[in-house]
Amino acid sequence: MYIVLIGPQGSGKGTQADRLVASLGVMKISTGELFRAERAAGTELGNLVAGILDAGELVPDDVTIAIVEERLKQIDAGAASGAVFDGFPRNLSQAEALDAALAGRDAAIEHVVSIDISEEKLIDRLSGRRVCSSCGAVYHIDHSPPANDAICDRCGGSVVQRADDTPEAIQRRLAIFAETTKPLLDYYGERGIVSHVDGDQAMEAVEESILNVLQGRAV
Ligand code: AMP
Repeated sequence: MYIVLIGPQGSGKGTQADRLVASLGVMKISTGELFRAERAAGTELGNLVAGILDAGELVPDDVTIAIVEERLKQIDAGAASGAVFDGFPRNLSQAEALDAALAGRDAAIEHVVSIDISEEKLIDRLSGRRVCSSCGAVYHIDHSPPANDAICDRCGGSVVQRADDTPEAIQRRLAIFAETTKPLLDYYGERGIVSHVDGDQAMEAVEESILNVLQGRAV
């Protein structure tokens, strides 16, 4: 099964993708996480994308599609039964490239879930968001802080604010979302595979809504 989660930064896509991995056994393909990991490891690709990430701009499509293709090859090799995409595709040409990559595997996107969220909630989530610099676990300074101040509960890594969670970069990313990513809902909508869930709810309730949507269509 191949699922795309669409929502602005702070809508909880990454957290929900982690939960779907646990409940459905699919692979999470989060391009943002993959880029941050490359950067943390100091690879050539990581150095190439560092400035782009900090500015909240989009990494070029060919680079992004190549990193996704690598993950799809792992699925070909039996690593998982499908994928949940988080932060990809982000524009029409990425969506078309993904369709082509899946068609070549006799597969297709089955569900697109739009996580809808109010601006008020979004700003609260983004300004309080902290992430583990080693494993990518996500925390919130008020709602779900790590047990020990800035130390990751999961791996012991250091929990920090993302470099692109500054007001300027957040604004830029939200503008890109509205201009180039949101229109993907029309692209997929024509196939009748888009569902909307209320992202203002607590994480557990959002997860339940997503699972309901997936089950409702999985006949
Ligand atoms: P995210 O964690 O999804 O918010 O992504 C963090 C940053 O990684 C974005 O602001 C972009 O700079 C880059 N990025 C992630 N996914 C993509 C994508 N599909 N296309 C281009 N750039 C991306």
